[in-house]
Amino acid sequence: MLTQTLPRSAAFAAIEALSRQRILILDGAMGTQIQQLGLSEDDFLGHGSGCACRHATDHPQKGNNDLLVLTQPQAIEEIHFRYAMAGADIVETNTFSATTIAQADYGLESAVFDLNAAGARVARAAMDRAEATDGRRRFVAGAVGPTNRTASLSPDVNDPGFRAVTFDDLRTAYGQQVRGLIAGGADILLIETIFDTLNAKAAIFACFEAFAERGERLPVMISGTITDASGRTLSGQTPTAFWHSVAHARPFTVGLNCALGASAMRPHLAELAGVAPCAICAYPNAGLPNAFGQYDETPDRTAAQVAEFAREGLVNVVGGCCGTTPDHIRAIAEAVKPFPPRALP
Ligand SMILES: [Zn+2]
Repeated sequence: MLTQTLPRSAAFAAIEALSRQRILILDGAMGTQIQQLGLSEDDFLGHGSGCACRHATDHPQKGNNDLLVLTQPQAIEEIHFRYAMAGADIVETNTFSATTIAQADYGLESAVFDLNAAGARVARAAMDRAEATDGRRRFVAGAVGPTNRTASLSPDVNDPGFRAVTFDDLRTAYGQQVRGLIAGGADILLIETIFDTLNAKAAIFACFEAFAERGERLPVMISGTITDASGRTLSGQTPTAFWHSVAHARPFTVGLNCALGASAMRPHLAELAGVAPCAICAYPNAGLPNAFGQYDETPDRTAAQVAEFAREGLVNVVGGCCGTTPDHIRAIAEAVKPFPPRALP
């Protein structure tokens, strides 16, 4: 593959060097922080903020968190900044659903380039502020979510051959997202919460195409999610099979996020660390949601479990997914400090 002969970006060399010195810290959840702001429909539209969305749509936008990088950029920058000051070396852009496929629910397909470029710029602004405060270099990871459709499985039980999306649809949509993220200054591309490896492969392909246009390779982080007790992704793969399906990306990290919390993640993470020769990244949810759908695992509890990953030598990058807060990230950063990063084979 031609892409593999491209030179690596300067940030790639820098983050890889840093990851050999210590375990790197990724940020925590964006959704819970946004929820706490209690934003109204008018707030989502940016009315009165001086940042009203110029993309026309008649769909309600409340709940379209990704839109806030355009309409409430100060609020999103502040969340990124808080995570950076809590100890995050890498923060994820607020662009999890910023593809034409996922934005179709909100009628904002035309906004995806702007959403991604602005998402990266807002995160970069927060990281520049954090670096100016404490002198530590920070990295922006462009978050690429799984979309709300799956290329491997039929959503219709009566028509198993049906697909709601094709590889080429996904490749095109991811291509727009990735180009926006890179244009906005993302240092890393993070393909995350992968439940369908075929979707992820389309995202990897889109990254390769964007790298070829740019003439250099950015670091790619690949993160699957395992939601059932049998230890497989939704598209039916074990962690080992998942690794072999994405190894051609030569990622900076491969790992797991979200799902059932840190303790349930541990055996799958160990399996992945046993087969993948690259760095390993883990960012679990704050345990399991309670009866009200809220996460109540305390920072100390989450951090103690993530520290076990580090003690066992399984991880190079750690952070938090759903339900984690800046306090969780601060506790995780503190808890893994005594342990060296996993040695790469
Ligand atoms: Zn999650």
